[in-house]
Amino acid sequence: MGIRQLHPHLVNQIAAGEVIERPASVVKELAENALDAGATRIDVQVAAGGAESIRIADDGGGIALDELALAIAPHATSKIQNAEDLAAIHTLGFRGEALASIASVSRLLLTSRPANEATGGVIRAEGDRIDAPEPAGCAAGTVAEVRNLFFNTPARRKFMRTAATEIGHINETLTRLAMAHPSVGFKLTHNDRVTFDLPPDQSPSQRCIAQLGRGVAEAVLEFDANEHGIQLWGLAGQPAIARATAKQQYIYVNRRPVRDKRINHALREAYRGLMEHDKQPVIVLFVDLDAAEVDVNVHPAKAEVRFTDANRVHGIVLAAIRQRLLGADLTPTVKLPPNQLQLRPSESDAQSTFTMSPGDAPAPRASAPAAEPSGSAAEPHTDSDAVHAFVDYFRKMNPRQKGFIYQRVRQEMGEQTDAPGATDVDAPPLTESVRSTNQPILQVHDSYLVTQDEHGIVIVDQHALHERVMFQRLHDRITGQGKLESQRLLTPVTLEASSRRLDVLDQIGSLLAQLGIEAAPIGPMSIGIHAFPTLLFDRGVEPGAFLSDLLDRAEQQDFEPSAEAALHEVLDMMSCRAAVKAGDPLSDAELTELLRKRDDTERASSCPHGRPTTVRLSIRDLEKHFNRT
Ligand code: ADP
Ligand code: MG
Repeated sequence: MGIRQLHPHLVNQIAAGEVIERPASVVKELAENALDAGATRIDVQVAAGGAESIRIADDGGGIALDELALAIAPHATSKIQNAEDLAAIHTLGFRGEALASIASVSRLLLTSRPANEATGGVIRAEGDRIDAPEPAGCAAGTVAEVRNLFFNTPARRKFMRTAATEIGHINETLTRLAMAHPSVGFKLTHNDRVTFDLPPDQSPSQRCIAQLGRGVAEAVLEFDANEHGIQLWGLAGQPAIARATAKQQYIYVNRRPVRDKRINHALREAYRGLMEHDKQPVIVLFVDLDAAEVDVNVHPAKAEVRFTDANRVHGIVLAAIRQRLLGADLTPTVKLPPNQLQLRPSESDAQSTFTMSPGDAPAPRASAPAAEPSGSAAEPHTDSDAVHAFVDYFRKMNPRQKGFIYQRVRQEMGEQTDAPGATDVDAPPLTESVRSTNQPILQVHDSYLVTQDEHGIVIVDQHALHERVMFQRLHDRITGQGKLESQRLLTPVTLEASSRRLDVLDQIGSLLAQLGIEAAPIGPMSIGIHAFPTLLFDRGVEPGAFLSDLLDRAEQQDFEPSAEAALHEVLDMMSCRAAVKAGDPLSDAELTELLRKRDDTERASSCPHGRPTTVRLSIRDLEKHFNRT
């Protein structure tokens, strides 16, 4: 076959292959056009996951009738003119390719009217056929309707997934754009059902939280920074809500959703030691900087960018988020499961609930039949059985227990509950006793410490906390005085060594020496340990096994020996070995001491591996759970 120039339509289809991957790409391109046109409302209607139709209406600047044909012509754009413009892009689009690409692989109907024109226009394109534009009456703004996507590219059509999957992608794509433009209203409707409807003029945090979900609102920390002309704003999720995937990460550069390896690295570093390795933080991050400092012309779908000074961006992102996290109380609050005040319809339940002897503790749940607002849960026969059982039980109750039931009934009926005689059925309100200064500490199963603070009950994993405390002590010692106390071995402990291990030892030898571990090759195939930290000796840690583990880990993780990461890794292992274990009984003095140290340890809410050391049960939650509110 001779060489020949491709037909323009084929060129467009090839270009479309890069830009229009699936229905969500159409939504992205059309919504970006609406944003570039200054829309204040963008309305997206999708049928059958976008395979059938996608319709996007905006109230932006519109396209004049005589420019409609140009709009869908390839490489035609109103956004840039020359190379200088390309060097500092201020719009989301700039390639003039999207409409041409979409038109080449679908049936496109573009209707538009600039606000200052009396009539609008419409143009229809279908694969390689483009009709002449015609005048049309329509609202100011633009409506783009895309039907039968990929009707003429069967290969692409085959790659479309179920409607549910495709609408999922569309939802995510539009969400990403909506978060960056809180002043613009966004509405997404799928098969006539509204997926979301975001009003215009929201604040950035309102918009982000609306899209991240309610539960996340209390668990994100707002941060900002402004340095060297780089402006940051965002929300950093607490480690407790970290996810298994990066789906809840929203990264923007000049309001453009992007993926960026350097920024990802900065995020990982910011959360180092606060979160387990395999978790991904929830994050929203807006990086805004001079358009000339970032090249957006590096990816067909504009999903990646290149910074003039990526290191600077990395540094600022890392510092801002790290600082915010370290300054915050990251202790997660555990939520109690909702209490089951409803009476279960099953007979066994009814019986077990009501056949207690009257001498038993007051049974708050026994108040259920009276409190049950409707009979919805109970079947007729068990209902009456339950009521009989309850009445029987109630007769045998003492006045205190009856008082409790009366109180519950009044509550359910919406009456004041603090009438005399109603609240004296139990201990004084919990919030009172919390104010006592001498906090009791309880060790449970030789593993957990239970105490209280002003918010509620605090439960500490003794090993995890001690690890963190040790880590901090060792880290301070190393970075302050430089060396850990160690003990010389009369005869060196030897261990076998592969050449790979010897390499690793060579790399981290000086770091180990600083930590009190003196180790050097003895001959070609073994390592001798000449000195070992006193701290580890005292805990009965065996030098050979310790170093062997350490070298294994260093080998697997392949960390840069000079970096903070290597020190972190080794200290991590040392503190783990030196810390008290779960199952170690502690004296009262030790308990007190450990908790005292918690207060002056950085990042005390998580152990060096990033697992939590502490959880809290809030008094508010407890009160709700026990129906005291
Ligand atoms: P680009 O966005 O890269 O310029 P497109 O193919 O997406 O390329 O759009 C081509 C041109 O059509 C745009 O430059 C713009 O002038 C016009 N246009 C497209 N969509 C809209 C819209 N919703 N409102 C106003 N003008 C639009
Ligand atoms: Mg565009």
